[in-house]
Amino acid sequence: MRKNMTKTEKEHNKDFYREMYKKLYSLFEGVTPVKKDCGVLCGAACCRGDERTGMILFPFEETKLRVFPANGIRYAVCEGKCIRSERPLSCRIFPLFPALDEKGRVSVIADPRGYDICPLARHSEDVIFDRRFVKNVKKAGKILSKDERCKKLLFEITSQTDELSALLEKLEK
Ligand code: SF4
Ligand code: SF4
Repeated sequence: MRKNMTKTEKEHNKDFYREMYKKLYSLFEGVTPVKKDCGVLCGAACCRGDERTGMILFPFEETKLRVFPANGIRYAVCEGKCIRSERPLSCRIFPLFPALDEKGRVSVIADPRGYDICPLARHSEDVIFDRRFVKNVKKAGKILSKDERCKKLLFEITSQTDELSALLEKLEK
């Protein structure tokens, strides 16, 4: 945030982002990666929080979870429990991600950061994801990319996922 931002600007920002996240969260109310509870496949591996892992928070995304900053990004730590209706956006879109290219186009990818823990991410080519979920991850990407701060973060994560995918591909050869 600009240091010399006025109080009114800050409030305006807060309201703007609150509304935006409300809209984004609503895309995933009752919409999950697959039609059945995928938690039974892995013992809900993505919700086994610990002190060393966290979920990326998007700019100005609010949470009641504990937050730690690292390399200019805020992470929420959950210890494996949360109020479902308040879970961060990163949890809602996992294990997919709205990748953003230089032309501002959004494409939905299986998040390679989740390969370790998530069978859906690992076997994404064989998984039948809920079409509404995929569509809404894309929609979320489009909404986020309209905001400069969120767009920047989408780019950053996309470049990380690209690097990781390239690395994993090399290792498989
Ligand atoms: S790790 Fe993947 S399969 Fe397991 S609960 Fe999370 S999203 Fe579902
Ligand atoms: S915040 Fe909730 S949904 Fe997200 S990882 Fe933690 S327990 Fe799971």
